[in-house]
Amino acid sequence: MDGEVPMLHAPQLAGLTREIRNYVTQGSGALAKILDEEPPDLAALVVADEDWREAPRETARPYPPGLPYFTRSVEPPALVLPETLSAAFRPRTEATLPLTVWHELAHAFLLRSEVVRTPAWLGEFVSQATAAAVARRVGLPLEGYLSEIDRKPGFTVRGFGGPAGASEQMSFQNLLLLLGAAALEEFGEGFVGRVVRALREETEVVGEGRAEELLAGALGPGGRAWLASRPEF
Ligand SMILES: [Zn+2]
Repeated sequence: MDGEVPMLHAPQLAGLTREIRNYVTQGSGALAKILDEEPPDLAALVVADEDWREAPRETARPYPPGLPYFTRSVEPPALVLPETLSAAFRPRTEATLPLTVWHELAHAFLLRSEVVRTPAWLGEFVSQATAAAVARRVGLPLEGYLSEIDRKPGFTVRGFGGPAGASEQMSFQNLLLLLGAAALEEFGEGFVGRVVRALREETEVVGEGRAEELLAGALGPGGRAWLASRPEF
């Protein structure tokens, strides 16, 4: 299916693909403005459940069904989106699918060039804050979605680590979304581009202390104290 981003889909998924294409087009336009750069060369694949094991990926073993991802194993790099989103995606509102698409799109923008390793929370924070920034730009209200999030899952974004089940992963992502939405309220969307540019300038593995410093700096004056005040952090 034609579009700014070419969409490839199973024949029976034309309807879902049209819906996803809208989110991709909105997201890629908003991201180009937020980050002040052209969209990367990209395709999107909408994969039928029965084809999931055949979808392009970085590893020999298929990824768990229903989890969207971004892969550079094909040319151009591609967003891979499942016919059926895993049941782990919670809460379910009209914002769930667009947020998921924008999250992967943000990974695609960030990974257009090599980026050094960072603590997982920082890379995922960038994608979640970016998804929330796109929602603001296109006028998709997030209140309903945010109000259904468990705000006290028993860990903070920095404390989350090690292997975790799908529901803990989702709680982690939702905490990052809360933090991102709150940061947008407090500082405006400029920090999203600043943190992405700061990450691209790093030449060595970013450790925990450096990651916190980068984010606080990107938020701007008062960033460090604000982060320290946030229960998610
Ligand atoms: Zn991610």
